[in-house]
Amino acid sequence: MRIKRLRLTGFKSFVDPADLRIEPGLTGVVGPNGCGKSNLLEALRWTMGENSARSMRGAGMEDVIFAGTATRPPRDFAEVSLLAEIDAPDGAQEHEIVRRIERGAGSAYRLDGRDVRAKDVQLLFADAATGAHSPALVSQNRIGAVIAAKPGERRAMLEEAAGIAGLHVRRKDAEAR
Ligand code: ATP
Ligand code: MG
Repeated sequence: MRIKRLRLTGFKSFVDPADLRIEPGLTGVVGPNGCGKSNLLEALRWTMGENSARSMRGAGMEDVIFAGTATRPPRDFAEVSLLAEIDAPDGAQEHEIVRRIERGAGSAYRLDGRDVRAKDVQLLFADAATGAHSPALVSQNRIGAVIAAKPGERRAMLEEAAGIAGLHVRRKDAEAR
């Protein structure tokens, strides 16, 4: 999978629309402390279906919405759009994934313009051997946690890296029917 563009509105410190094109090769994001570098990585994980507010450094999921500053009022919603090229058996395909959260209304996803469930987005990324919990996304202070992971947690990481995490979800679904 290759991420080609990230577009944020009202997400954490990104109150004004921000459009980031990610070119092939290595991309570095540099800036002073607190300028929003980690927020960008969190926006990526959030759009992939992250549902733990704590791992987004918040108490509740609405904490991702711009909370206001001394000079700017808070926002009512946050939206992140991700343009990704995802490998499929019949060649790579471009997909746009959008997640939006509104105060008091929860969050909703769109995949290529259609309303979809969180699970559809999570499966899309799991099948592409990635996702919000991918070991490829290592947050600040989490390096030690990856090293110290219990065998079961480490297996989950390897399964995600191998692109088979989605199979477990589908099997559980099938067994529940
Ligand atoms: P460092 O170099 O210290 O790791 P960083 O560039 O990774 O910094 P972030 O952690 O991404 O910085 O950004 C933190 C900033 O985002 C803080 O100033 C914080 O106030 C702001 N922020 C986080 N959530 C919100 C929110 N909901 N509304 C407004 N600002 C927010
Ligand atoms: Mg940081």
